[in-house]
Amino acid sequence: MTRVNTVLGTISASELGFVAIHEHIGYGMPGCELDSKWWKTPEQRYEETVPKLRQFHENTKPWGAATFVEATGICNGRDIDYYKSLSDKTGVHIVASTGFVGGDTALPFFERASVEYLTDQFVHEISVGIGGTGAKAGIIKVGVSRGFKMKELDLRIYRAAARASRITGAPIFTHLAVDSAPALNIFAEEGLPCHRVLFGHADDGVSQGLINEKALLDAGARIGFDTFGYDLELPDPPFWGRHRQERLHHFLRFLKSGLTKQVLASADANCSPLGWPGVKGHTVNYLFEQLIPDLQAEDIDDSVIDQLFVHNAAEFLTLTPIPQH
Ligand SMILES: [Zn+2]
Repeated sequence: MTRVNTVLGTISASELGFVAIHEHIGYGMPGCELDSKWWKTPEQRYEETVPKLRQFHENTKPWGAATFVEATGICNGRDIDYYKSLSDKTGVHIVASTGFVGGDTALPFFERASVEYLTDQFVHEISVGIGGTGAKAGIIKVGVSRGFKMKELDLRIYRAAARASRITGAPIFTHLAVDSAPALNIFAEEGLPCHRVLFGHADDGVSQGLINEKALLDAGARIGFDTFGYDLELPDPPFWGRHRQERLHHFLRFLKSGLTKQVLASADANCSPLGWPGVKGHTVNYLFEQLIPDLQAEDIDDSVIDQLFVHNAAEFLTLTPIPQH
């Protein structure tokens, strides 16, 4: 049986339904929970989050089930017991991440850890559980620190992630698709096939011109169009925003060149951001309110939409250990 770890237990990939592959219940910088400016009561967080997840569940009805991949790694406000209660309340499957959004958000304790130590940490969270929650991570987050260049710590985390991915079978997703050559080298050295890696944020406004799409495609990697909805047309767009049509046409170029199997799409929205105001009006439901209608208006077939949000995602999330030779 195909297996995927969700916060409420391991399920078959065929039960995932529609998958939003890169989202956040709440993402923040380490320590934001100590800043009194941003304190929220549990009731306030539920109030901000539950209606968005209920709407997501409603929107995915035609696909039979809803899966929300929570891309917040260790040290960035990850809260597994909270995710479990949200999943229970709303019926949305939630897949939690181990790993780090980027080396620069790893606390000093982990910053000094060896590749072996980090590998053990990720393997434990995927195969035994996260803290005392009993929930297992289903995916490994890694990332490029600020500055668009891989730092030594980023490389150490990527290598540990590659090893943990081979052992446990959990896939990897990256924050940013820039400076990918060192990443591709590490995956090759560690014997991890690149279809187990989703290079994320290939569609954001600030990375354009800095991503070697050909190298990623040639390596067989997956490409993440996962910042849909961070549009410059918003009243107060973020610095990584992009014109809606420009992002859409970038995505369509991939779909129309037969590269559908290598791409995944998501909105990277925060239900209830931690320690920052978030981007008003942007939620995971953008996928249904704007993206899918935009694709349909461009004559993209429903089977392609299913391929993106159901089949590609299920294949990617299925735990697939790679035997050591
Ligand atoms: Zn994200």
